[in-house]
Amino acid sequence: MTIAVYPGSFDPVTNGHLDIAARASRIFDTVIMAVFDRPNKQLLFSTEERVALLRESTRHLPRVKVDTYSTLTVDYVRSVGASVIVRGMRAVGDFEAEFQLAQINQTLAPDIDIVLFMASHRYTFFSSSTVREIASLGGDVSWLVPGPVVEALKRVYGRR
Ligand code: ADP
Repeated sequence: MTIAVYPGSFDPVTNGHLDIAARASRIFDTVIMAVFDRPNKQLLFSTEERVALLRESTRHLPRVKVDTYSTLTVDYVRSVGASVIVRGMRAVGDFEAEFQLAQINQTLAPDIDIVLFMASHRYTFFSSSTVREIASLGGDVSWLVPGPVVEALKRVYGRR
């Protein structure tokens, strides 16, 4: 039984994230999408909102679970009995940051492997921040994010 953790900010979850989680769940028995509580970024959604949106958006993926953590990623991974960290890579621009993160995590925890999934071509060109920007300017994001996120973004930006 191999448990993998897919950690991230997921602010908010996009179809690109869901594609990686779905593909990882075809390989690993359980994939935990783990929302990092306090990333070094300005967040649009609270941890509770990010978790709720992920839960609603992953209902169709029986092997995907959702959780939150605020410790070192490798400590969280060990605490749930996982042995793999899943991340996604869109283009060469992601490589440096993901490589550095992988080296750090591997040094801290040589028993945990990092598996990078190449994004599907349909999802390589956008991130959560692109989605936030389009939504904030009133653009349609329903082709980039799941339904619950479309509604949540309308609630945030519709008020303005
Ligand atoms: P973090 O702040 O940890 O980078 P993100 O939520 O931005 O959290 O991203 C989590 C992971 O998902 C990262 O490995 C990132 O490269 C990957 N990712 C982000 N957007 C996409 C996408 N459109 N397709 C595939 N992977 C993606």
